[in-house]
Amino acid sequence: MKSAARVAATSLGVHMPYNYVTPAPVLRGFFRSFSLREVPLEKPRTLLAQAPQRIETIAASVEARERGAFETSADPITRLTDRLDLPEAVAKPIWLRIAGVEGPTDLSFLESRQLMDHAFRADERCNGCAVCARICPVRNVEMVGDRPAWRHRCEQCFACLQWCPKEAIQFRGNTSGQRRYHHPDVTLADMVRSAPKA
Ligand code: SF4
Ligand code: SF4
Repeated sequence: MKSAARVAATSLGVHMPYNYVTPAPVLRGFFRSFSLREVPLEKPRTLLAQAPQRIETIAASVEARERGAFETSADPITRLTDRLDLPEAVAKPIWLRIAGVEGPTDLSFLESRQLMDHAFRADERCNGCAVCARICPVRNVEMVGDRPAWRHRCEQCFACLQWCPKEAIQFRGNTSGQRRYHHPDVTLADMVRSAPKA
């Protein structure tokens, strides 16, 4: 199966601000520490301003039923990791290790990715509001009593972490106290409206 990065390399993409978690600093405490990458406040505005034009280009390509490999706006590092197939060689073992899967496995790259939610937890600031459960696009978060539980079919969008109104959701050790980010023009009502219903 092709990795997600390979699929992205043969498609059209819109370059948006980075809301993912990254092992930090690189390689030190690799399996314990992840942090949210700080994005300078001006950069999201610049990227978001460029997005409509990019979307028009993509829409025109789809309407014209163009075929073949397209360039993406992915940065050189992304292209390099794709070429070296690092998602399969590096990311998959990390996710499996986070999930506590030991030894040989038949799990695919994408199945392994879904298990990475073993690293989420809600800290003492959680007030049981259930926003995380209501906005998850794949209904991977369920409330058990007044606390969220992750059901291991995660798509790693990080909406739950970024939108928690109490900033109570953490990923491993390093995300507490780090600035959250979501698109400035998207509201919580938008997120709830677009999420699948039970
Ligand atoms: S959104 Fe945050 S505060 Fe609300 S239930 Fe989820 S973790 Fe708790
Ligand atoms: S909101 Fe996104 S990151 Fe959070 S559990 Fe759902 S799919 Fe995973």
